[in-house]
Amino acid sequence: MPEKYDVVIIGSGPAGYVAAIKAAQLGLKVACVEQWLDDSDNMQLGGTCLNVGCIPSKALLDSSHKFADVRDNLAVHGITVKKADIDIPAMLARKDQIVSQLTGGITGLFKHNGVTPISGVGKVLVGAKVEVTDNKGNVQVLDASNVIIAAGSVPVSIAPAPIDDEHIIDSTGALMLTEVPVRLGVIGAGVIGLELGSVWRRLGSEVVMLEALDEFLPMMDVQIAKEAGKIFKKQGLDIRLGARVIGTEVKKGKVEVTYTSAGGEHTELFDKLIVAVGRRPRSEDLFSSDSGITLDERGFIYVNDNCETEAPHVYAVGDIVRGLMLAHKASEEGVMVVERIAGKQAQMNYDCVPSVIYTHPEIAAVGQTEQELKADGIECKIGVFPFAASGRALAANDSDGIVKMIADAETDRILGCHIVGPSAADLVQQVVIAMEFGSSAEDLALTVFGHPTLSEAVHEAALAVDGQAIHIANRKKR
Ligand code: FAD
Ligand code: AMP
Repeated sequence: MPEKYDVVIIGSGPAGYVAAIKAAQLGLKVACVEQWLDDSDNMQLGGTCLNVGCIPSKALLDSSHKFADVRDNLAVHGITVKKADIDIPAMLARKDQIVSQLTGGITGLFKHNGVTPISGVGKVLVGAKVEVTDNKGNVQVLDASNVIIAAGSVPVSIAPAPIDDEHIIDSTGALMLTEVPVRLGVIGAGVIGLELGSVWRRLGSEVVMLEALDEFLPMMDVQIAKEAGKIFKKQGLDIRLGARVIGTEVKKGKVEVTYTSAGGEHTELFDKLIVAVGRRPRSEDLFSSDSGITLDERGFIYVNDNCETEAPHVYAVGDIVRGLMLAHKASEEGVMVVERIAGKQAQMNYDCVPSVIYTHPEIAAVGQTEQELKADGIECKIGVFPFAASGRALAANDSDGIVKMIADAETDRILGCHIVGPSAADLVQQVVIAMEFGSSAEDLALTVFGHPTLSEAVHEAALAVDGQAIHIANRKKR
């Protein structure tokens, strides 16, 4: 008799590997199926996030930020550097080393917790069974009491700019460029486009970003997006809104890009072109037609609030289901599902999921924007504090940006916080915690914040909600 698992998980990205470890910690017998192979055909855990997403992009963002700081920002401190040089192969090797350290770490954690890794492509069959085909074509069928699909997402490709992995690349290719392109085009000024565009801009590329929408960062609070747009312009990112790419042609080693905008049709010549127009769920060939699993109209696996699919005992979590395509959203869904399988009353609070763009300065948000609240007819109070008035930010010569705190006009409950500024990702987390505890703006205002810290900007924004900020002139109440 083949052994039966309590849980079989398909995919070892942050949704899958975290669910697997948590399930094992809860005493469940768990297997995790992963198709990703390294150059030597060994199973590679960690998914998009660890291999070609969050971690390598942050490694390059940090390296390129340090380089740009040394080149551009030290004179103000009285430090002179003769000439800053960047060794791209060394920068890429550091990134690769971090990736191997973390992916290897998951292999170790699987071993330590007793998770069984199974190499191959998984497919869900009717009755919570999982067929696995390895890279030599061997097929086995795993019997499971529960199945969790965590197969993630892949970059969207668009017909006018087919990826050739040489001149026209996707986000994965943009993490592997071996030299700094003189002119770099980026299609899509969204999260990934901005991060990767920033890396190569800091290293010296002339970067032109072509964005089809007329509005910059439409998912962000408008005030924050405007502030960020101004900062990126100062950094030399040429962001063209309302610019829809309609064609590309590779000519003599360069890419000619044709786009339309209000002014008509234009062409630009680039050394490399990054296509960063979003990601889509990887839901093809993942389940048999009689499995009972269904897809929504955009190809995401259909699930309810508890990540249950329409097939009994089959769950789906992470990028393959509706909601934000973020690693922490993915892993928290994985944890929720295994806790429910283990009989706990777990639920996910989707209202308190932060999102971040790791440009410099960072952009971070939690909760609703001013525009969303207005559209819902919810009266709110707003407190804004600029980093230009933060002693810590000035001391660090890093004072671009603002904190915007939004609270319910009647109850004072915090409804959202939006930040563009230094360490915004970490700053917003304190508001995430406050919101999880149902905090009011006054609760944060009454909290003692260390001095001098960047966190004081969050404190001041909470004070400003009721016109009580100390270090800026408050707007007069009528
Ligand atoms: P994935 O990480 O995509 O993992 C899915 C896994 O399933 C893969 O390993 C895949 O090989 C495997 N798989 C798929 N189908 C099968 C099958 N049939 N059988 C076996 N295995 C299968 N998010 C953040 O929160 N912060 C960031 O800073 C951030 N930066 C990013 C930067 C870039 C450049 C990119 C591309 C993404 C970034 N993201 C970031 C998004 C983040 O990577 C994803 O939200 C996250 O990886 C989703 O996790 P997941 O487990 O759902 O899917
Ligand atoms: P995100 O989903 O945040 O990664 O953003 C992707 C961006 O790419 C979106 O803002 C899209 O409007 C943009 N986009 C998609 N197709 C095109 C295109 N053909 N030309 C320019 N921008 C595009």
